[in-house]
Amino acid sequence: MTDSRSRLPSPDVASATVRDRGRRWSPRRWTLWSLPRSALAYVLGVEAAAVLVMVLTLVLGPHGRGWVVAGLLFLGAVTHAEAARHIERVRVSRVDRPFIDLKSMWTFAGLLLVPTGTALVLVGATFAYWWLRNGQHHSALHKWIFSWATVVLGTAAAGLVLQGFDIDTLLARAAGPTGLVLIAAAACVRWAVNHGLVVGILLLTTRDRSVRRHLASPADTLLGLGALALGAALAVLAAASPWLVPILLVPVITLHRGVLLDQFRHAARTDPKTGLANGAAWAEVAGKEIARARRHGIGLAVLMVDLDEFKAVNDAHGHLVGDEVLRAVAAALSAEVRAYDAVGRFGGEEFVVLLSGVDPPAATHAAERLRARIGAIDLTVPGMAGVTSRVRGLTASIGCVPCRPTDTTVEELLTAADAALYRAKRAGRDRTVTADPARPEVGP
Ligand code: GH3
Ligand code: MG
Ligand code: MG
Repeated sequence: MTDSRSRLPSPDVASATVRDRGRRWSPRRWTLWSLPRSALAYVLGVEAAAVLVMVLTLVLGPHGRGWVVAGLLFLGAVTHAEAARHIERVRVSRVDRPFIDLKSMWTFAGLLLVPTGTALVLVGATFAYWWLRNGQHHSALHKWIFSWATVVLGTAAAGLVLQGFDIDTLLARAAGPTGLVLIAAAACVRWAVNHGLVVGILLLTTRDRSVRRHLASPADTLLGLGALALGAALAVLAAASPWLVPILLVPVITLHRGVLLDQFRHAARTDPKTGLANGAAWAEVAGKEIARARRHGIGLAVLMVDLDEFKAVNDAHGHLVGDEVLRAVAAALSAEVRAYDAVGRFGGEEFVVLLSGVDPPAATHAAERLRARIGAIDLTVPGMAGVTSRVRGLTASIGCVPCRPTDTTVEELLTAADAALYRAKRAGRDRTVTADPARPEVGP
């Protein structure tokens, strides 16, 4: 399942005084109320719909069936959650993307094995358990409730797909193509509703209004659907030979560990401060682009961008504000170039940009655009004790090396860009120096 627990405003940092503890459970302290009005209406609407769906399903649906199976699935979910606790602790989620919860396999298996109403109770029980195990942050309770609501609605929608099929017939049919189509459709519906509702709240609570940027990445989508597929396999196995279910826990935990690989790979390639590619990752992309440009006989350019007198920004406002400025510059550079141009943080306050398919005048023009964009940064950073820092009027020097690669290497281009940058600094900063493509310099 996907959820938005870390996306809604983070819990208040509460000091543990006795008085505070007395008011601990007061809903008035939920950060929920600080959401924008549209987001608040959305959250309350989704939660009300989930409660209504749950009540109607329990009242109108078949009763008193499947509780033992649901109880065993709950035990499986708890075992899975406990075994994967250390993985979840080091797993970080991006604040602008849905979080993929692999434990959804247990509730999806529940939907295939027990009546929908019972499966919805199982969803509630697993959420309650995870919330209790995760420190019962009172101010974060509403985030769990919202996540629960999205999963309830996703599960109920998937239940509608399966409606009309008796559970036993359904699993018997799982041997044939109808079962495959039905179960795949139910999994997709559950994913789409759950994921869509989470993306909705991300759109309403973050400044970035691009739906595409809030959707789960292809790898995460595969992971989320993979968990549901495991849920289907679990249901079939449980119906055929329940005693074999614990064996499934082994591949499940292995899959869960695999989630970290992607995270570590991303971390190894990314500069943590700015989110840009780090030097090594940038050089790898640049090497591929050079090879591509050589094959197609097109031009490219490497720009080395260095902020002018950046030490003065740190001296005047402190390093934390300096870091905010670096993030703003990184965002400005990324926003100004095309999606397939590579931007990296080379170190300190130096950035590198690779522009594909440009001739020398276009490269210089792009460098000037980047400098203008940096110059337009006007940053207000709230600090401690109500002191606010404002940083504007930044300038940068750029060394620009356009070329039409023959046997050029990344290192040669970087050396030439560094030399051009050195000339820009020596000539008085706040300018671009473009190396003569016919004679790229080596060394200052
Ligand atoms: P110049 O115009 O010659 O480039 O002057 P400068 O002050 O920008 O250059 P210098 O190389 O003398 O100093 C670079 C400064 O960048 C010094 C250092 O404090 C700062 N810096 C490097 N990395 C970071 C960082 O990660 N965060 C912050 N806040 N500052 C950094
Ligand atoms: Mg500098
Ligand atoms: Mg520097």
